[in-house]
Amino acid sequence: MTDKTFQNDRRRLLRGALLGAAAAPLAYMGVRSSNVLAQDMPRLEEDDPQAVALNYVHDATDKDDMRESGANCANCRLYLGEGDAEWGGCTAFPGKAVNVNGWCSAWVATS
Ligand code: SF4
Repeated sequence: MTDKTFQNDRRRLLRGALLGAAAAPLAYMGVRSSNVLAQDMPRLEEDDPQAVALNYVHDATDKDDMRESGANCANCRLYLGEGDAEWGGCTAFPGKAVNVNGWCSAWVATS
């Protein structure tokens, strides 16, 4: 290995380390801000016209006569909640948080 090649490799390694160090806090802030957004969203009320239209309830067992057995927000493909949070976003109700134990007629099984 020549001196010049060694210097180029070292420069590349340092550049990669600096970029990685700079990117880590940004990635953390992205994850954190999406969690904060979910927590700050207003909760969908059962009497909200959109909720009524899709038969949404906070407790899926209230709709045992309508839903597939075991279906709830936690196992719905449209649910955006993370971790063990009780409330999370839902693609069917943009800007509102639904209960992880809830259900509505737009439920789609996770694949
Ligand atoms: S679409 Fe899925 S996640 Fe959203 S309220 Fe209905 S069952 Fe819950």
